[in-house]
Amino acid sequence: MIKTTAHITEIFSSLQGEGPHTGEAMTFVRFAGCSTGCRWCDSIDSIKTCVNYRVETPPKSKNFAILSNPVSMERLNGHLAYFTDDTISVTGGEPLEQADFLAIWLPTLKPAKRVLLETNGIEASALQKISRLIDIISMDIKLPSSTGRKDYWQEHAAFLSKALSSGKETYVKIVVTSDTSSKDLQEAIKLVTSTNKFLPVILQSASITDKFNLKVSDEQMQSFARLCNLWLPNVSIMTQMHKEAGLL
Ligand code: SF4
Repeated sequence: MIKTTAHITEIFSSLQGEGPHTGEAMTFVRFAGCSTGCRWCDSIDSIKTCVNYRVETPPKSKNFAILSNPVSMERLNGHLAYFTDDTISVTGGEPLEQADFLAIWLPTLKPAKRVLLETNGIEASALQKISRLIDIISMDIKLPSSTGRKDYWQEHAAFLSKALSSGKETYVKIVVTSDTSSKDLQEAIKLVTSTNKFLPVILQSASITDKFNLKVSDEQMQSFARLCNLWLPNVSIMTQMHKEAGLL
């Protein structure tokens, strides 16, 4: 059956806070649910239990209207009609866990909008369904010593291969914490060098929350960057600019 509704958590306009497109104005559509469960994450509401979503009304006001899930494609595009940003960030949660909906919704955004997909980089077959509809792929590599969960090396390798063969702009984000091991980082470096060592790689410190306090020190971060720089020519250290600047 064709999936014509989705569960989302919010729609808002802000500046991109991560990666090479930091500072660009975008409309964010945050999909509900993610089964990965990184220990710092505050957006892991399951798709089934996410009863409501919020829409910034009007855009850029930081005021929100609350509505009920699921949202139909028509209602979603009705909300988006008020947002004028050229780029839509399809984020989450993990949007690729609702890839069937993306496959029918994303074509309705073209050619007017550029689409940036923010993903945990695990669901290669889901990416395959929609990669032609995406302009930019922001892919995470999840280090088990950072997330506190299992490793996804095989899944990441398959995903990266699909992302690169799509020919779309792709970059890799690696979140590090004070628990991150050099061994995991070396595994991630191997993954990138075995596909395209020139890919932009962003090392990002996990943000502190009420429930999470394993912030990487400056010295640790410099040491991780030195390790990456031994093999990768395009590594940046970045923070989550939107959180530091108090943006949505
Ligand atoms: S992959 Fe992303 S959305 Fe999923 S739990 Fe981790 S940080 Fe949260």
